[in-house]
Order: sequence, then structure tokens, then C-alpha cells
Amino acid sequence: MNIPFSPPFIDQAVIDEVLDSLRTNWITSGPKVKALEYELLNLTGSKATVCVNSWTSGAIMMLKWFGVGDGDEVIVPAYSYCATALCVLHCGAIPVMVDILDDFTIDPVMVKSKITSKTKAIIGVDIAGLPCNYNELREIVNDPAIKSIFKPVTAKQSELGRILLMSDAAHSIGATYEGLPAAQKCDVTIFSFHAVKNITTAEGGCICLNLPPPFDNQEEYSFLKIFSLNGQNKDAFAKSKGANWRYDILFKGFKMNMPDICAAIGLAQIRQYSNTLLPLRKNIFLKYCAAFKSYDWFIEPTGKDEIREGSYHLFPLRIKGITEAERDQIIESLVNWGVIVNVHFIPMPMLTYFKSIGYAIENYPNSYKQFACEISLPIYPQLSDPEVDFIIESVIGAVHQVVEINKLVKVLS
Ligand SMILES: *Cc1c(COP(=O)(O)O)cnc(C)c1O
Repeated sequence: MNIPFSPPFIDQAVIDEVLDSLRTNWITSGPKVKALEYELLNLTGSKATVCVNSWTSGAIMMLKWFGVGDGDEVIVPAYSYCATALCVLHCGAIPVMVDILDDFTIDPVMVKSKITSKTKAIIGVDIAGLPCNYNELREIVNDPAIKSIFKPVTAKQSELGRILLMSDAAHSIGATYEGLPAAQKCDVTIFSFHAVKNITTAEGGCICLNLPPPFDNQEEYSFLKIFSLNGQNKDAFAKSKGANWRYDILFKGFKMNMPDICAAIGLAQIRQYSNTLLPLRKNIFLKYCAAFKSYDWFIEPTGKDEIREGSYHLFPLRIKGITEAERDQIIESLVNWGVIVNVHFIPMPMLTYFKSIGYAIENYPNSYKQFACEISLPIYPQLSDPEVDFIIESVIGAVHQVVEINKLVKVLS
């Protein structure tokens, strides 16, 4: 068998929706983006949803919107994709990295210990789709002692009067927290619609706004639409309607808008998400857990607990007591048998660029520990039952091969 890691979900409905965009002759931002924003509003119960051309763009835009800049600090976990920290660096601010808990989410105790008068935002990352401990993070940003050291320097910062709580929800569309869509837990939640994510627009993202009073989320929505379009007060779609050619540039915006032809893909997927695509992912997650449960090497990932349910974006298998080299050997066996797997993530302090600016993995021991024994297995709606069974057999075979051989080597040496 040959099992890819995470192919996009493209059925007839997706193809039809894209063709519809092509046939109407409107391919950039227009009605499909509006329709996708509306679906996202319904799915998340947010106060506003703004589609952009990637998670990364959305994060840079929101940090800039809040006025994060030179000398500011933003707390992020060491265990994430590079974009979580790069968006901060692109604003001239410093990503202050902290370690994670055993469920891969940011450690709230570490977050609290790193807050200074320069801290402007915290970005939690919902690794594999599991929401962070947002109640604890909310408590931290609302703590009167912490609020009292917050130093607002922009109008938005004064309006909020505290540290901005952001969610890197690149993995977690559809996740819940205390029975409600998890996106409602943070001021700003950003999804990614990159090709490998649960919902894709090839490249894309969505900013969910849930800003507390006195913010007017509708007003911020209108502002962000303009912000994502060079600061232009009228989009191309509005301009195309009759004698409406004159526009103005109101401020120095970015070019980060999502095209309709991309939105069409996500639109067709999201209509099937809650009822079909997400439950199919969950089934595979549960099948893996049931199949591996009896093996003492299996560390079960958290898909769900008393307060949270994730979006089953990844199946982050961890194998007890193995070294990084043994993990790599297991991956090699799996790939040889036709099962393509992945590792989520190489902690940022292990990457060349982050090392060159002073981060060191020694300061994040749990991030290293989780990384060293992690293998992300294929999990997506198109996987058939025989394919899932084949993956399970392959994993069991590869783990035993590597663990047994290494035991033997130890005995012989
Ligand atoms: C994919 C991903 C991103 C980046 O998303 P883009 O849409 O490609 O910018 C950010 N954070 C995490 C955790 C991701 O997995």
C-alpha cells in the first residue's frame, strides 16, 4: 500500500464550487469569501470572521493591529511551527518562548512566570487540534496584578487594557471548550487553511474576533478588510459594480486578502465538515487508540477531556522510552512499507535560524522530550478501513522491530 500523509479533500462538491467561481468570471475576493466568512461565523459563533491569505498573514496583521512593535514581548510555546514566532519577529517584537505540558499545549505556569511590563500578547497553540488551557490563560491576562503592569502605548492597547490573548488555531477548526466553539475563548483566534489542514483553501486563513467591550467587532471587521487590501476603502468587487471606480487609500495596509477561487474549495468542504469530515477524522483517531491501547509503549494522545474536545487534526503517536534516533528508525521502516508519516513539530529552538538568534532547546526540556518520541500518523476523511488497518499493523511491526533489535544490540554489546 501507498498511503500519503495528508492529501487535501477534493470531491465533486469542491470541484463544482471552484468551477462556479471560474464560470462567473469572478476569481478574486468577492461572494465566495463572504460566504466562507459566513460559514465560519456560524461554525465558531464568533463576533466577526475575516478571511486572509494565510495564518501567517493573519497573525502579522493582528499583532500590527494591536500595535505590537519594537521592544515588545509576545509569549509563545517553543513547540510549534515557525510561523508562531516569525509573525512576532516580523513586527520587531521578541517571541518569549516557554515550555509545554505533556498534552503539547503551552504551560500556563511558565507563561505567568515570563510576563513583564513589555508583554503585549500571548499566543497559545492548539497542537493537533487540542485547545490550550484557555480558562487559565484568561485568568492570567485578567489578573489585576498583571493588568497593573501592562503598559498600553496604542489606542487599541488602551481600549483592551490588558495583554491580548491569541490562539494559533491553525489545527483546531471545529474544536470545543466547555461545549462551546473554542474560538470564543480568545480575543483573536486564527485558523490556517493551508493544504494540509482540516479545511483548506490551498493557502488561506481566517481571523475570528471575539473582542470584549468596548470594542465593536463589526467596526474592527470593516477595518481589517481594508487593512488586508492595501488600506483601500473599496474592494475590486465593489468597484466592478457600475460607476464606482474612484477609491482612496486610507492608511498603509497589507495585501493579504483571500481570493474567491481559493475560498470556493474551503466553502464546499466546510458545508460537510461538522456532519461528515470531522466525525470521520474522530473515528480514525479512536480506532488508533483502541488498536494501540494494549501495548505498553503507547502514550495515548488527548483527543478529548472533561472540558475540551479537539479537532483530530493530527494523531500524535508517542512511544514510551525511545530515543530520537529510534524514533527516526521507526519512521524509516514505516516509509519503506508505504506509510508516509511526519513529526509535529521540531521545536523552534532546534532550527538553525532560531539557534542563531539565541534560542537553545536545553531551556525547553519537555518540548524536546515530546518531540523525540513523536510520530504523526495519517488521519484524514479519505482513509479507508483497510488503509487504517494497514497503518496500525505497520506501526506495531515497526515499533517492535526497532525496539527489539535495539534491545538485542544492548545485550550483545
Ligand atoms: C500550518 C501552521 C501555521 C501556518 O499556517 P499558514 O496558513 O501556512 O501561514 C501556523 N501555526 C501552526 C501550528 C501550523 O500548523
